Amino acid sequence: MRKGLLIILSGPSGVGKGTVRDSFYENPQLNLAYSISMTTRERRPKERDGIDYYFTTRERFEEAISKGELLEWTEFVGNYYGTPLDTVERLRNMGKNVLLEIEVEGAIQVKQKCPDALTIFIVPPSMEELEKRIRGRRTEPEEIVQQRLSKAAREMNLISQYRYVVCNENVNEAADIITAIIKNHM
Ligand code: 5GP
Repeated sequence: MRKGLLIILSGPSGVGKGTVRDSFYENPQLNLAYSISMTTRERRPKERDGIDYYFTTRERFEEAISKGELLEWTEFVGNYYGTPLDTVERLRNMGKNVLLEIEVEGAIQVKQKCPDALTIFIVPPSMEELEKRIRGRRTEPEEIVQQRLSKAAREMNLISQYRYVVCNENVNEAADIITAIIKNHM
């Protein structure tokens, strides 16, 4: 069986990666599986453990790092985030195209290990719109919002690391473009 693709989807916090993903993920033609990350961040009200993330402690996360259990990991606005290696490999070996929704530093680590990974970066129509979306979420204090905005600006400077850049002005259009990109690589 042909090994599945490794697809990296990145974009600044608040750009709508999750919403865009929801609109192409269920397409059976894409044969996708989502890689659930581990994080030490606090769970937001609507998030479910084991579905959106594996929520864990710093101690457990650091143990996963030291045991080489992660394909990549990073510290983002004071919390750890990482991709469990064994699940990604198991799913790809089953022929699934595995989708990683990760930030730029993690994407660079994955590209070094898997140079054939398909890399897609989602950009907002403008930085003003991004700020509006982050604030609209109303889940974080001002200090964290500021840190997320400055990280967003740094991430936008690294889009040249990605093969494809897609603007999320309209969710369905962005999802259609990403669907076409994935199909083209299958
Ligand atoms: P959030 O806290 O908004 O869920 O995620 C913050 C950022 O971390 C987002 O850009 C998200 O894509 C990224 N992220 C989520 N999981 C991972 C991961 O496993 N590794 C890396 N490097 N970034 C991740």
